[in-house]
Formats: sequence, structure tokens, C-alpha cells
Amino acid sequence: MFKALMITRDADTLTTRLEEVDPDALPEGDVTVAVDHSSLNYKDALAITRGAPVVRQFPMVPGIDLAGRVSASDDPLYRVGDRVMATGWGLGENHWGGLSQMARMPGRWLLPQPAGLSSRQVMGIGTAGLTAMLCVMSLEEGGLTPASGPVIVTGAGGGVGGMAIMLLVRLGFQVVAVTGRPQLHAYLTRLGASEILPREALAPTGRPLDRVRWAGGIDVVGGTALASMCASIQYGGTVAACGLAADMALPLTVAPFILRNVRLQGIDSVMCPRPRRMAAWARLERDIDPTLLESMLHDVTLADAIGLAPRILAGHVRGRAVVNVA
Ligand code: NDP
Repeated sequence: MFKALMITRDADTLTTRLEEVDPDALPEGDVTVAVDHSSLNYKDALAITRGAPVVRQFPMVPGIDLAGRVSASDDPLYRVGDRVMATGWGLGENHWGGLSQMARMPGRWLLPQPAGLSSRQVMGIGTAGLTAMLCVMSLEEGGLTPASGPVIVTGAGGGVGGMAIMLLVRLGFQVVAVTGRPQLHAYLTRLGASEILPREALAPTGRPLDRVRWAGGIDVVGGTALASMCASIQYGGTVAACGLAADMALPLTVAPFILRNVRLQGIDSVMCPRPRRMAAWARLERDIDPTLLESMLHDVTLADAIGLAPRILAGHVRGRAVVNVA
């Protein structure tokens, strides 16, 4: 038997609890992983507190991220004892995920853990770090360099935002962080932000184009903040949009695109093809500052994750929650 969080739905009642699970109940897959660490992402918080639409079938083990060692494998790429990790691909959505001591999945979803990082660090980075790196790569592909000018990052106190700040600063960019929490100023300065703005700095102005303020942007909140960001990006700049922490809607005109040649790049980490994931993780291994990463992390247990989920959705959690599933 192994321990896992289990989300069940009975009529209209959603329940998440820590359960003892029989390994025979694990889903199909050619590799079984003894999970040692997972992480708690915004999407996991949605799954645990609201179930649908993140969770597509019940019962479900949540957890979009996992890291551990192979305990059984029919995939020639993996041998028992290999250090592996997986993020996305529907884990914790339509296939049992990582908030569990065991997981089974197709081997093609797994990647070897970067040799220079511990399992805990890998999960500290997790989907948030992968997504932040995919955002950074898209800005670079849009032609942005540190000489282009400052880059704005929203949701700075959260996982993706913090990772994005850390990575951009490491690459030499000047970073403007947006947060709704003034108490995080010292933390964000330590991550390397050179300017910190309140959320109101991206309040809607009603103008299709605004004064140019930034060369590029990474947005995790959506809604009017993303719209305002696009309206203030300089000619030829890129905005990477990856989240909806504030709003799914996007009240925007085409003006930034047709008058300033602005590029709005969507970012998805879940179905991101394997070669691009590998490229992103290779860069994460190279570009993550372990001391700064440590300043973003806090450790929780499987049982803690249940109570933490609503606090994540309320925007009260700083950085990244790493789950030690032991
Ligand atoms: P976190 O909860 O760690 O961070 C989100 C941050 O957004 C909060 O810390 C807060 O930052 C800010 N925020 C929260 N609510 C609001 C609000 N109502 N208005 C404005 N800002 C708000 O989440 P993650 O970093 O893990 O994820 C962020 C978003 O990115 C989520 O929507 C998530 O679903 C999405 N995501 C998408 C991925 C993809 O593949 N496209 C992958 C990973 C995440 P502060 O207090 O500093 O303002």
C-alpha cells in the first residue's frame, strides 16, 4: 500500500483526503515511479478545491509534477533506480498524478532528472520553472535582448512569476515585478527585480495604446493586466501569456499588434513537445541560482497540501511549495 491524495466526487460533494492505496489500482503505463517529491501548483490548488474543470475523471490523484526513482519499467529507456521526473501531460487531470508515493505512466512522459539538481530542487522548479523558462525562450525568439529594455513580470510573488524574475535577471535583463503584496518587496528585490509595481500599475486606461514602458512582458494573470501590458510594450516587443490567476477574459484591441508590431505568444507547458522540454530543462539546470531558488521554496507534506490549496488560490502563498511525499 502507498499513500496518496485522492479527490473523489459523490453527487455534488468534492472530497480530497490522504488515503492508503493499493498499487494494483495504479493506472496503465510502462514505467512505475517511487515518487519522493512533488509540488503544489496553482492548477493543483484548483483541482483540490474545485475538482472540475481541471480534474476530468474521478477518483483522481492530483499533482501535475513528480520526481522520484523508477521502481519498475518495461520501457528500454529506463531502468530500476533511475532518477526521473514528469510534469504535465495530463498528470493530476486525467491520469493519476504526483501527490502520491507511487505513480505509473507512459515512459515518454518521463525525463531524466538533471544531474546537477536534487529531486527536491527539481520539484522546486517544477511546472512553474519550466513554464517561466518557456516564456523566457519565447521572448528571446521574439528578438528580445537585455539591450532592448526592461521586461515586466506579473504575479511576481507566485511560482511562475518568481522563477521568471530569477531567470531574466540571470540573463542580464532589467526586470519590473508586479505584485499585489507590498510585504514581498524585500524578497522580490533579492530575486533581482529592479523595480516593483503594485497591480494598479496595470489597471485599464481605456486607451487602445498607451505610453511605451517595457520591451517585453511575462504575464501569469490574464484579464485587464495582460491587456494593459500589451498596450504599453515597445515597437516589436513580445509578451508571453501563460496564466489566468486574475481572469480568463482578455479585453484587448488589435492596436498593439497592427500599430506596434507587438507579438503575443501563448505558452503551454502541459503538452510542450519533448525536445523543447529537454532544451528548457537543460537551460534551467544551467541558469538557476541554487541560493535564490532556495529562497523561493518551502517544504510541505502530502497532508499539508490540502489546507494549502485554498491559500494558493487566494494568492497568499509565496514562491513554491515543494511536497515531500515520504
Ligand atoms: P501562484 O499561485 O504561485 O502565483 C500566482 C500569483 O498571481 C499570485 O502569487 C499573485 O501574485 C498573483 N495573483 C493571484 N491572484 C491574482 C489576482 N486576482 N489578480 C492579480 N494577480 C493575482 O501560481 P503559479 O505561478 O503556479 O501560476 C500562475 C498562473 O499561471 C496560473 O493561472 C496557472 O494556472 C498558470 N500556469 C500556466 C501554465 C501553462 O502551461 N500555461 C503552467 C503553470 C502555471 P502577487 O501576490 O505577487 O500579485
